[in-house]
Amino acid sequence: VSSQELTQHFLDRIKRHDPQLNSFISITEEQALAQAKAADDQRAAGNATPLTGVPIAHKDIFCTQGVKTSCASKMLDNFIAPYNATVVEKMNTAGVVTLGKTNMDEFAMGSSNETSFYGAVKNPWHTDYVPGGSSGGSAAAVAARLAPAATGTDTGGSIRQPASLCGITGLKPTYGRVSRWGMIAFASSLDQGGPMTQTAEDAALLMNAMAGFDPKDSTSTNIEVPDYTADLNKPLNGLRIGLPKQFFENGLDAAVGKLVQEAISQYEKLGATLVDIELPNTHLSIPAYYVVAPAEASSNLSRFDGVRFGYRCNDPADLEDLYKRSRGEGFGEEVKRRIMIGTYALSAGYYDAYYLKAQKVRRLIKNDFDEAFKNVDVIMGPTAPHAGFKLGEKAADPVSMYLSDIYTISVNMAGLPGISIPAGNSNGLPVGLQIIGNYFDEARLLNVAHRYQ
Ligand code: GLN
Repeated sequence: VSSQELTQHFLDRIKRHDPQLNSFISITEEQALAQAKAADDQRAAGNATPLTGVPIAHKDIFCTQGVKTSCASKMLDNFIAPYNATVVEKMNTAGVVTLGKTNMDEFAMGSSNETSFYGAVKNPWHTDYVPGGSSGGSAAAVAARLAPAATGTDTGGSIRQPASLCGITGLKPTYGRVSRWGMIAFASSLDQGGPMTQTAEDAALLMNAMAGFDPKDSTSTNIEVPDYTADLNKPLNGLRIGLPKQFFENGLDAAVGKLVQEAISQYEKLGATLVDIELPNTHLSIPAYYVVAPAEASSNLSRFDGVRFGYRCNDPADLEDLYKRSRGEGFGEEVKRRIMIGTYALSAGYYDAYYLKAQKVRRLIKNDFDEAFKNVDVIMGPTAPHAGFKLGEKAADPVSMYLSDIYTISVNMAGLPGISIPAGNSNGLPVGLQIIGNYFDEARLLNVAHRYQ
């Protein structure tokens, strides 16, 4: 098929099915069809990459030139990005077609996609349930086949957890592997963009296009990008899989635990050996994250002041009033909660007690992983402690919502890569297996993920 036919097919599916799911904030039909035409011409001229003409969707946290980039916030409801994020630019160079921008939790703060200014996203497997978050729109769109692939971002689990709850593949690369330039910042030392796809092979193809050094991102790492498709079929004989005791303890839903154990035993059949390991500081990852991430968010979100861009209140009395009401009216509840926690944690007198302490805990978490990777090649466990939960079930209880990321957050704290792949269904709702790798070992993660499918 031509890219124009393919693009039209997905645009039609979005129009037909997205009203039930709410996975898109913007649909960029006109641009998509123009990109598809250009892709068809490229292909006819013999200038195609494997992604030329492939339609995808971008999480609405990535700046897209000339297109609304809202971060699912009222604050940026009127913001048209004047430039493309590096990820978007790289994907465009590879020839992809952008179908639109996907829904998400406001400023990527959430695990259920219920904090979006544009309303909750529904899980395509059962629309009474959440798709996970914060990249819930991307996960739902890929799961419902409204787009073959999408981008996401993961600060504490936001690619892997919704991938798990929607039954797709989601890869959070090593911190520094994918440029953060033009990706609206939440917690800069944790944020990382990555692919959300149906298969590990698709994720490898997207990674080939999106990874790489970017001089515009000072934390981007200047090491060569391998061909992520090259090792997909390598046999897994002798692979050492670490199973952290702390990932299978209380808090884990029994049905989820069983499915994950079954998936892991498949790997034994493929020639892998299982090694019991300890990640003793796992229980500290959520408390430390909820100091570090809000602290960084409070600083990053100070730019939304009603002056330079974004929402501005009506008839401000003076500058003070302009700041206060623009921010008060423009941000949602969860975002304000984070700004207040973060500002408090960073304030003089409390900095040492909270922020500095959390940074020290962060180092302990990283040390746990370094120790573990001396004896194993990958670490496996559940992506999330549960399958999708009902819309509204955790909305009034932030702490129970935060626990959704118990197995994913430590990976961000350490800066490691992790992937979630479908491991079966519990009561009709998908469950993910998480595979964690050593730094810059994405090719191995994709290989291990690919062999399972
Ligand atoms: N759910 C976590 C939070 O609310 C992680 C979000 C993310 O990875 N962007 O902060």
